[in-house]
Amino acid sequence: MDKLLRPVLVLNSSYVPISIRNVKDAICMLILEKAQTIKSLDNDFIRSERLRIPIPSIILLSNYFLVPRRSLKPSRNGILERDNYTCVYCGKKPGGSKLTMDHIVPRSRWLTTPSRLKPSEFNSWENLVTACKDCNSIKGSKLLNELGWKSPDSFKLRPKKTSFLHVNLSLAEKYGWSEYLIQGK
Ligand SMILES: [Zn+2]
Repeated sequence: MDKLLRPVLVLNSSYVPISIRNVKDAICMLILEKAQTIKSLDNDFIRSERLRIPIPSIILLSNYFLVPRRSLKPSRNGILERDNYTCVYCGKKPGGSKLTMDHIVPRSRWLTTPSRLKPSEFNSWENLVTACKDCNSIKGSKLLNELGWKSPDSFKLRPKKTSFLHVNLSLAEKYGWSEYLIQGK
């Protein structure tokens, strides 16, 4: 990867991670003295005629204390956590790798279901739930009422806006960010 495009973790002035930017943006902020380097990567430098700057992996903003609020996009991990790694239909907990994402209203039925469903909401917190493989294959392209299954409680749960920055763990390990991230479950 181009050195300038490598990700850099940005901390606000209270050491709270607030965003991920690339090296190019980070170096601009360093040069403008809007930030300082907290951690840099091995002995890798950005060089120009007059400058030799260690490539940052974490920077601290000099004068920014806010934590931006962000809304969470649904993700497999987010849905699994919300549903407590439990099949919402039968209550089994076969382990994360054996759980699937089920669309409550399947794709083949989405546009033919007379309701207020918008195409963009197919992959939403409201339409995605955790299901074991057995339940998922029984459900297939049927609707819950066709099977006599109850609507799962988690159906209504959409995580509130969060102030936590969600970072892919392998990215965090690769770039040495882990000690500055809030550990999830
Ligand atoms: Zn199940």
